[in-house]
Amino acid sequence: MTAPRLVAQNASPDAAAGSPDGARLLHGAPIAAEIRSRVGERVTAFEQRHGFPPTLAIVMIGAEAPSAVYLRQIVRSCDSTGVTGRVVEIGERVTTSVIERRIKELNEDPLVSGIIVQMPLPEGIPLRAVIEVIDPGKDIDGLHPQNAGLLTLGYEGFLPATAQAAVEIVKRSGYELEGLDATVVGRSNIVGKPASLLLQREHCTVTTCHRRTRDLAAHVGRADLLVVAAGSPGLITGSMLKPGALVVDVGINVVGDELLGDVDFESARHVARAITPVPGGVGPLTNAILLEHLVAAASAQHGEASSAASVQARAGNQS
Ligand code: NAP
Repeated sequence: MTAPRLVAQNASPDAAAGSPDGARLLHGAPIAAEIRSRVGERVTAFEQRHGFPPTLAIVMIGAEAPSAVYLRQIVRSCDSTGVTGRVVEIGERVTTSVIERRIKELNEDPLVSGIIVQMPLPEGIPLRAVIEVIDPGKDIDGLHPQNAGLLTLGYEGFLPATAQAAVEIVKRSGYELEGLDATVVGRSNIVGKPASLLLQREHCTVTTCHRRTRDLAAHVGRADLLVVAAGSPGLITGSMLKPGALVVDVGINVVGDELLGDVDFESARHVARAITPVPGGVGPLTNAILLEHLVAAASAQHGEASSAASVQARAGNQS
């Protein structure tokens, strides 16, 4: 029995820019810049046709520090593509029904093409109650049960941008995923679960790990492709990896004044074939993909053929 090879789509993806010793570094920024440039062109064309640019409503409830940092990044991404970023601040001490009312107003606003809600939500505000109010056609981060269901069934819908970024960064770096043994560490609705489903679409054989996984190291050690979204700094070390693995580190952990991933970069880079750095890997790609979804949503809302299909569903298991 032969193990599936890590087949390159291009002649040699590893020959591209990498680390002088050890794994190739998969940077998100160049891919994100390419996506943003295409988004910018589509925003200009949309504005010419309709007289206004697509608007992204960023709903911010409370003032959690990680949200504030993320907010600055997404607003900057909007500015760079011509998208209008509208921050909708809702105070910390607010009831679920007030939040629902504000989101319904955004659903009905014809200028607003997409809505995202910053997390974490303040204690006592159930995520489900908030997410389910968003119009699925404006739910560009794919969290509404309708979009999550479409993903599960392999149909076209909005995908969670971070999970999509985790898969896209590997594909766009030239690696073929079909047939790989993939392990995903984490099963959140936002990252781990959709990443596992997307990798299934790519014809990987997927194992999903979580806190109650009995032997995490064994599952990690078999992975040709490892995606880690655990929120636990340095959880995965080089000695756990299969030599030559592709490693996607989604984790963003603030430790002192450092941003660290879930993978111990220094040990992993000597064992992996390619690895995403933190910061600078998946993170920059996430916002660009989100804006790609926004433009697709805006076009669909105006009855135009959307290129969402090319962005969202390259499903092998659609029927
Ligand atoms: P989350 O909701 O806390 O989920 C973490 C998942 O990891 C859970 O399924 C948990 O298992 C699992 N896990 C935690 N510790 C583990 C351990 N020791 N062994 C095995 N599994 C473990 O977090 P999230 O929202 O998915 O985010 C994950 C990470 O990604 C965070 O660092 C976050 O900051 C980062 N993130 C990055 C981006 C980006 O754009 N790059 C976007 C979003 C999130 P259980 O289910 O059993 O609890």
